This record gives sequence, structure tokens and C-alpha cells, in this order.
Amino acid sequence: NNVQVSVLGLGAMGAALAHALVTAGYATTVWNRSPGKADGLVAQGAEAAATTVDAVRAGRLVIVCLLDHASVHEVLDPIAHELSGRTLINVTTSSPAQSRELAAWAAQAGVAYLDGGIMAVPQMIGRPGASVLYSGSADVFHQYRPLLDLWGTSTYFGEDAGLASLYDLALLAGMYVMFAGFMHGTAMVAPAGMTARQFADMATPWLTAMTGAFQGFAAVIDGGDYTVKGQQSLEFSTLDTLLAASSDQGISTEAVAMVQRLIQRQIDAGHGKEGFARIIESIKHPQNPQ
Ligand code: NDP
Repeated sequence: NNVQVSVLGLGAMGAALAHALVTAGYATTVWNRSPGKADGLVAQGAEAAATTVDAVRAGRLVIVCLLDHASVHEVLDPIAHELSGRTLINVTTSSPAQSRELAAWAAQAGVAYLDGGIMAVPQMIGRPGASVLYSGSADVFHQYRPLLDLWGTSTYFGEDAGLASLYDLALLAGMYVMFAGFMHGTAMVAPAGMTARQFADMATPWLTAMTGAFQGFAAVIDGGDYTVKGQQSLEFSTLDTLLAASSDQGISTEAVAMVQRLIQRQIDAGHGKEGFARIIESIKHPQNPQ
């Protein structure tokens, strides 16, 4: 392949992305704010650029993986004129609004823009299980698809540059609440002498099995009828016992109380006999639960 690529940002993730490109034989120029982080990549065949201008001039395609949206602007604003006519792929974690803002900024500067959300840790890049979500320019996605596929499974969601960020953050919401639930359980069993390691051994198969419930909830939610037979009811799902047991162990009830509040609002609104999936109504209607 003869694509010249520049990678700005060699943190844990940027370095992993650049490593995959160098390994695949792409002519790769790298830049990082603090010196030293390019050394390993240079040893593998990358070129190190001393300035962002040098880095951008070396590549038709510029990949940006920095800390956050503010750092992306800090790096790119002064070199907008250099980026003009080139292609920018930004895989820095951003909010949908930030991604749309950067897409508009790029359009103004004459830069083709694709936004990415990485669903992987650096060690997973280029290995099975890594996935990257994209939105923005379809032309960019299709033109560079072989390169993007080096990192993981690539999925494109449409021209709205905010969609990749939206779906990325929606998946992270599920992850963080699950992680908090795991921490809660770990804290609950600690006073009884169980180590976190032992609890992890129990929780992994249990939570893995419970993901099997997602499709059932999804069928109810998409069908729009929370009264269909065969569901666990909201009344049955009350977490009072779980909250009391947590208090008895002397731990915070916050992680579980949050779920209980979502349930209780639906019960209070008269929906106690309906299915657990109905708590999505508490989430969708924060002011006025139906
Ligand atoms: P790191 O903290 O390892 O690296 C951050 C990078 O941003 C460094 O290269 C740092 O440069 C640079 N940086 C920060 N602020 C500035 C600035 N003002 N100007 C110039 N450069 C700046 O983070 P990661 O590499 O892990 O993450 C990068 C992005 O990838 C983030 O948006 C993150 O959310 C996303 N991501 C990371 C995942 C992970 O598991 N690590 C998973 C999915 C997404 P310097 O070396 O000079 O400090």
C-alpha cells in the first residue's frame, strides 16, 4: 500500500494504533507532545516528526488520538491551513456534540472528516474482539477501510459525525453501571471474608449468563407493550432486601438505590404488575415518569 499516514498522539492508544499501521507496512509518521514516546515506533520503522506541521505534511491521512476534545483543538487549530485538502480521522473519545463540532470545524477548513469511537483497550488493537465505531464521511470510511480494519472490526453508522460517539458512550454506560454492580457485590461479601478474586470467579459466569436477558428486554421495549406475559414484574423486582442486606454489611447502598429508584417511580405510577423493562421509561422521562 502507498498511503502515507500521520498519527498525532502516542499515548497508550495512539501508540497501539500506530504500531498496527507500521507492522502492516504503512509509511507512518508519528508525533507526540512530550518527547520519547516515538522511540519504540521509530525502531519498528516509523518516522518521528518534530512538529505537528512536519507530521501533517508527511501524510495524506492524519489520525488523531489525544486525551480529549480540548486537546484535539489545541493541537489542530494552529495547523488548520496545513490540514486543508487532507483527511482527518479522529478517534479521541468525545461527546456527540464535540464530534459534530469538530466535523463542522473540519468542513470549514476543507478537511475530509471521519470520527471514531474505539471499543477496545490498547492491548486489544489488531486482535479479535476489538471494535471501532465510525461516523462522518462515508467516502473516507470506504477509502481507508483496509487500514481501519487493521485495528479491529470497523462499523460505519452514517454521515452524522456524532453517531460513533453516541454509540460508544451508550456502550460505556452499560459497562460502567455493570462495573459498579460488580464493585457493590465485592464490597458486600468482603465482611464475610470473601476476596475480590473469589467474587470475580462467581460473578463472571453469572453476569455473562445474565446478558442473555438483553434480547428479551429489547423485544418488549421495541414492541412497546410492557404487559406481555412471561416477564419478571416490577413488584417482584423490588430491591428492598438487597438494600437492607447492603446496609447490614455496613456498605453504601448508592449503586443499588439508583436502580431501586428507577423501579419505584414506575410502581408509584401504577405499573407494578408490568415487566422490569419498563424502568427504561424512568430513564427516558426524568421529570415526568409515565
Ligand atoms: P493517554 O493518557 O495514554 O495519552 C494521552 C495522549 O494525549 C498523550 O499522547 C498526550 O501527550 C496527549 N495529550 C494530552 N493533552 C494534550 C495536549 N493538550 N496537547 C497535545 N497532546 C496532548 O491516553 P490513551 O492513549 O489511552 O487515550 C487516548 C484517547 O483514546 C482518549 O480519548 C481515550 O478516551 C481513547 N480511548 C482509550 C482507551 C484505553 O483503553 N486507553 C479505550 C478507548 C478509547 P503527552 O504524552 O505529551 O502527555
